Amino acid sequence: MKRIETWSRGDRGTRRKLPSLVPRSHRVTASGFRVASFIFSIALLAFAINFTAASRAQQRRNGAHSTSAREAFTSADRRLVERAIGQTCTERIRDPFGSTPIDEMQARPSLPVGNPDAVAGLRRAERVLPTTRRLVAATIVQLAKEYDHYGTAIARSRINAATARVEAVRRVRPDVDSRDNASVLLREPRTIEFGTIFLAGLRSDEAMISVLAHELTHIASGQANSLRPLFRAIARRAAVRTGLSIQGQRAEELACDLVGMTAARKFIRETPSWEPLPRRLARAVEHNCVDDDASDEDHLSPRSTIRALFALDVGLASEVLADGSLGARSIRPEWTPVSKSVLTVSTGPF
Ligand SMILES: [Zn+2]
Repeated sequence: MKRIETWSRGDRGTRRKLPSLVPRSHRVTASGFRVASFIFSIALLAFAINFTAASRAQQRRNGAHSTSAREAFTSADRRLVERAIGQTCTERIRDPFGSTPIDEMQARPSLPVGNPDAVAGLRRAERVLPTTRRLVAATIVQLAKEYDHYGTAIARSRINAATARVEAVRRVRPDVDSRDNASVLLREPRTIEFGTIFLAGLRSDEAMISVLAHELTHIASGQANSLRPLFRAIARRAAVRTGLSIQGQRAEELACDLVGMTAARKFIRETPSWEPLPRRLARAVEHNCVDDDASDEDHLSPRSTIRALFALDVGLASEVLADGSLGARSIRPEWTPVSKSVLTVSTGPF
């Protein structure tokens, strides 16, 4: 549905690329900028699906809500969202494992694959990929139900096919030239390509899961873009609540971010920690805490992205603002950990 994009275009957060004559490709980048020569390789990458640093997802509020309740968004909610944005970016600065903002990633020189921070990022991505696949599948089903796209046999079949594509992804491949981008080639849909700057800039499991989940959501929608109706429903709600224009590719990118944020939220639930809950939640979106808050046709600006995500999940925004001591702010796990080793297994080494 889009014209061709070139890698030389700025990209904050997540991007999907639509190659020329071919089926769509996705590109997610934290700040994808590429050299002019790279434009010529776009055709070769026609099948690429990409996703970027900016993946975040939203999480549904807990408990049952009527449709009208979910649609309600008050001026108090709006103020809460703004405060949560400020808190998120404050937490990033305090957090020793805080993510690098997208605009800072853009300004960095390329990192070799062997760079210790890039290597650490790759190991993290490989470790959390199996967990992320599972969380993304669950999140897509959850959102499909919440947005009334799961009520018929055809709809369920579409969602099931999408989650099957997610489950088939097997590998994360580091790439110097991708810099702060991540991507997936449709002709090789089991591999996520991940720029080394991006790998090094995401220093927590929560951040990595959020970005991987964004990529996986592009893959879930597939060449037929089967999740487009869901993406548009999410975008409509966000647009009503924020006044932002969220059409076309922006809808998909935002929805991918919502899946990312929601998947990270689920991960936090499953992995109790003494770290403050607001800090862990902030990691899912804090790479958007930029100074240079530029948007483009296909993406909301990074800070607008955080705003839209919190507007979609006011419950999560309020959790970011939660006060209290370290332990008190941790989320009660959905299961009871038996031992440290169980915790380790849950985060999924290969
Ligand atoms: Zn994307």
